[in-house]
Amino acid sequence: MCENFVHLVLARAEGSPPGIKGVSLFIVPKFEINADGSLGKPNGVRCPKLEEKMGIHGSATCELLFGEGGESVGELVGGLGEGIKNMFLMMNEARIGTGLQGHAAASAAYLHALQYAKERVQGVAIENMANVNAPRVEIIKHPDVRRMLLSMKAMTEGMRALIYRGVMFGTLAQMATDPAEKEKYEDFLALLTPVIKAYCSDQGFLVTRDAVQTLGGYGFCSEYHVEQYMRDCKISSIYEGTNGIQALDLLGRKVLNIKKKMKPYEDFVALMKSLVAANKDNPKYGAHIQRLGAAIETLDATTKSIVGKALGGDMGAPVRVATPYLEAFGHTVLGWLLAEQLLVADRKLEAIFKAKGAADDDARNKVVAESNEAAFYFGKIAAAKFFIDSFLPHVDAISAFVKADNKDFIAIPENAF
Ligand SMILES: Cc1cc2nc3c(=O)[nH]c(=O)nc-3n(C[C@H](O)[C@H](O)[C@H](O)COP(=O)(O)OP(=O)(O)OC[C@H]3O[C@@H](n4cnc5c(N)ncnc54)[C@H](O)[C@@H]3O)c2cc1C
Repeated sequence: MCENFVHLVLARAEGSPPGIKGVSLFIVPKFEINADGSLGKPNGVRCPKLEEKMGIHGSATCELLFGEGGESVGELVGGLGEGIKNMFLMMNEARIGTGLQGHAAASAAYLHALQYAKERVQGVAIENMANVNAPRVEIIKHPDVRRMLLSMKAMTEGMRALIYRGVMFGTLAQMATDPAEKEKYEDFLALLTPVIKAYCSDQGFLVTRDAVQTLGGYGFCSEYHVEQYMRDCKISSIYEGTNGIQALDLLGRKVLNIKKKMKPYEDFVALMKSLVAANKDNPKYGAHIQRLGAAIETLDATTKSIVGKALGGDMGAPVRVATPYLEAFGHTVLGWLLAEQLLVADRKLEAIFKAKGAADDDARNKVVAESNEAAFYFGKIAAAKFFIDSFLPHVDAISAFVKADNKDFIAIPENAF
């Protein structure tokens, strides 16, 4: 395919200490490079096969063997034992990119499902159920399909907002001239990075699952694209550090940041709470904002209970619940970001109604039916309310699981699984 390949390889130099402190980063080329820059002899790197995968067939993945038929010589990149640290320079960007991959698959699958639901005619409208002669309707008219569509829309838009907010924190950190500001935004980005990676890949996969379900039998057939999005999406929860590892990073390093006395987490929770404090009495959406406030309190209480156990000597406590905790964290952050969008959308929609002189419900419905811009804001409000009502109760369920402190999955002997 090309003259030479350069492999970046994590490996242990002879005599290195055990654990990650002994891992270094090396450049291992397929062909050695002579002093004059010309290609030298083969460097003992062999590719025995391409992997057969469930998805991402457009990206060839292969197995590599080093030290085959002679030594593979690697050149050290950075210092000895700095492999993991240096790898993370690449990894942090890759983790955000992987979250984006989960979101992108979800977004594409949702748009396919939406289009299909508007075209596929099947069954009768619920109000005509008893009438055998009732006309068949497009499946978007069925409540269960509408529920799936709004769930996909809310999750997709929430994930997009999460990724943008993380990247915005990164930009603010780059632009900040005050060192304290810079540190604050760097910490926010560091806190959100494992959430972007793991939450968007896991939830993105669930959105693609719902898209397959929306298409019914055709969703399972490969001539429709949604099954491919579902297969392609799955890898995003596995590579660039499995989501189990991301969850340990979130809780064990980013939230429980002992060196900074958990300041990044506390500041971030305060940021979410400030939206609730300013809008909890909103005449139209106060109840939803208060439900968001309750979810933030529940998340915070759950965090404090896990941290309390860890600091009390039960270091297994965060490890046991890290993955469900990350899910609760992600739901809460999305609730916050979608609530922000709701408040903006409400202002924009009211301004459109005012400009069009639409004072009553009929007139407003007509504006929404005729204006794509008004429909866009209407959709934002519906998605945010739906997310708060349907996803945020999971934060309570996860909190109940954490509170139960179940250890059966630790105690169970391996032959009893
Ligand atoms: C298509 C594809 C492309 C890839 N591309 C690259 C690439 O370009 N470069 C590269 O370096 N790698 C690449 N990989 C490898 C990929 O990064 C790893 O597969 C991934 O990091 C998981 O490692 P593993 O497969 O060894 O799983 P394991 O580490 O064996 O994990 C298996 C399960 O055990 C869990 N687990 C493991 N250790 C722990 C622990 N300490 N605590 C809790 N749970 C744990 C994991 O979360 C997971 O659920 C690729 C893999 C695939 C499938």
